[in-house]
Amino acid sequence: MGFVSGVGPAAADAAGWWFLFHGGQILVQEGVPGMTPAVPRADGPAALGLRPDTLHHLGVLDGVPCHAAGFDAPPLALPPDHRFAGLRELFGVLPEDHYAVAARAAHLAHWDLAHRYCGRCGKPLALKRDERARACAACGQVYYPQIAPAVIVAVRREDRILLARSPRFAPGMFSVLAGFVETGESLEACIRREIREETGIEVRNLRYFGSQPWPFPNSLMLGFTAEHAGGEIRVDGVEVLEADWFGAGNLPGLPGKLSIARALIDAFVASGPRV
Ligand SMILES: [Zn+2]
Repeated sequence: MGFVSGVGPAAADAAGWWFLFHGGQILVQEGVPGMTPAVPRADGPAALGLRPDTLHHLGVLDGVPCHAAGFDAPPLALPPDHRFAGLRELFGVLPEDHYAVAARAAHLAHWDLAHRYCGRCGKPLALKRDERARACAACGQVYYPQIAPAVIVAVRREDRILLARSPRFAPGMFSVLAGFVETGESLEACIRREIREETGIEVRNLRYFGSQPWPFPNSLMLGFTAEHAGGEIRVDGVEVLEADWFGAGNLPGLPGKLSIARALIDAFVASGPRV
């Protein structure tokens, strides 16, 4: 059956899977040490002794309702055997379908907590029942969850791939280049600008690769491949500290399997040498 998206508020005692967030972390039940962390299934946060600040119905997963909730401040006490955990650490730990719903819930919880009041008139916003939005009863303004599109690009030059190191990365780790799309910019223009700005390289033959929701906190990564068209590496020293062309047999530290970045690099490796 899979997941069917739904909208609207959720009752604090609604039964189902509960995706509860505070500060970008999700509440998981762990039981005895060593037990695999799991998303709690309960008759609402009320049954767990919790009072979240926002409540959302997310949809239905294989017949079981799914809800999201967010806390402004950390709960004073957690139910026994529960803890908050980072979403990244739960990749490959939670079942894949639970992880996908958790990513959706994380994005919503982040949006929800940041959209409690109207940005135009300052009055409180109410969750709409018929669509995923908050509306202002005073001035009529409607707010939808915002998605920040970002491009991520594997640039190839003969048998090598362009990988770069950001100051945010762990020492020794390199990845493909990525950047947020600016207002009024096409994806193609964004790709050319980002790669030029960060490494001084010009690209051609842009091809769509795939996409990945990236809920840290609200991006959609749009993956592309491209080929070197000109220029030699000249890093900006700010967003990129180091960059180089790497052959498939000579790769540096790479991002984890979680990411589309890694999928792009794995696809480069799998494509083999060019004749
Ligand atoms: Zn308003």
